Amino acid sequence: MSRTSGEFELIARYFAGAARNDAVELGIGDDCALIDAGPGRQWAVTTDMLVEGVHFLSEVAPEALGHKALAVNLSDLAACGAQPRCYFLAIALPSVDETWLSDFTRGMLALGDHFGCSLAGGDTTRSREGVTISITALGEVPRGRALLRSGARAGDDLWVSGHLGDGALGLALLRDGVVLPPAERSAVIERLERPVPRVALGIALRGVARSAIDVSDGLAGDLGHILERSGVGARVEWREVPMSSALRRMPPDLQRRCVLAGGDDYELLFTADPAMRDGVLDAGRAAELAVTRIGNIVAEGGLTLIEEDGRRVDIEPRAFDHFRP
Ligand code: ADP
Ligand code: MG
Repeated sequence: MSRTSGEFELIARYFAGAARNDAVELGIGDDCALIDAGPGRQWAVTTDMLVEGVHFLSEVAPEALGHKALAVNLSDLAACGAQPRCYFLAIALPSVDETWLSDFTRGMLALGDHFGCSLAGGDTTRSREGVTISITALGEVPRGRALLRSGARAGDDLWVSGHLGDGALGLALLRDGVVLPPAERSAVIERLERPVPRVALGIALRGVARSAIDVSDGLAGDLGHILERSGVGARVEWREVPMSSALRRMPPDLQRRCVLAGGDDYELLFTADPAMRDGVLDAGRAAELAVTRIGNIVAEGGLTLIEEDGRRVDIEPRAFDHFRP
């Protein structure tokens, strides 16, 4: 591997060019692939892997880990507006710890039950070191109605659900000794360890939003994916970006890092025609989630942040990348 290659270059160079038969109606490059499921329907399919020491700390409670392993996959289904149906679990374990497995499974199955998504298969094997979990999830979507990264148009409003940055703040609390009062501390860590996929919102946004992605790698990078796939640019008003009261009290540079380059928020970032503002607000109400307009899409490439004092700063629209220093 060339040392300068990032995760996304590797995907582009080695995987994205693979031949695609006509069952695969949308291949590599979005939150889910779309597979022909007969007249009027498509399967949205996604895979996400969690590696001990890379995606989760060894101390994490197994019940929370089971929840999160499935949640990150359901979040990709949500980003496409798909209805979760079933999933497959591949797990590698260094040793058998039945208490651990029972707790892990309880967390995973409870989340699946909540969203009507059944465990339908998988693989179980030994690892040399650490736990690795890979889940593939399938959701149904009416043909042609999936939300894609590629649908944004100049003039669209840019929206986000919930608030951003608490996932990364949670990690800073656990790892870097950032201090908060106990009640806020546990609320923020809950956001990191037990994210709730925005499934109802994704479904309610079918036909309302023009493009969508889930925020797993930070606002800058995930918005960057929409910009790249849609061939547009964006302006984000920093003062509009929703943050928890805990994050609001943090120093400005930590706020920025958590929101822009953090990750693990699993909110939906989406664009919609300004004529659809009422439809977006209705979708938020139906999903019982706040939705906030944070900027707009422009024709020229790039991502511009508009500071509270009106200054414009160009931001690198780059996601967290596993192979970049
Ligand atoms: P997400 O963050 O939503 O999980 P990514 O941005 O990580 O998605 O992935 C971008 C695209 O690249 C997705 O369509 C994903 O399926 C695809 N992809 C990632 N790794 C591989 C791989 N090893 N082989 C084929 N496709 C891949
Ligand atoms: Mg995603």
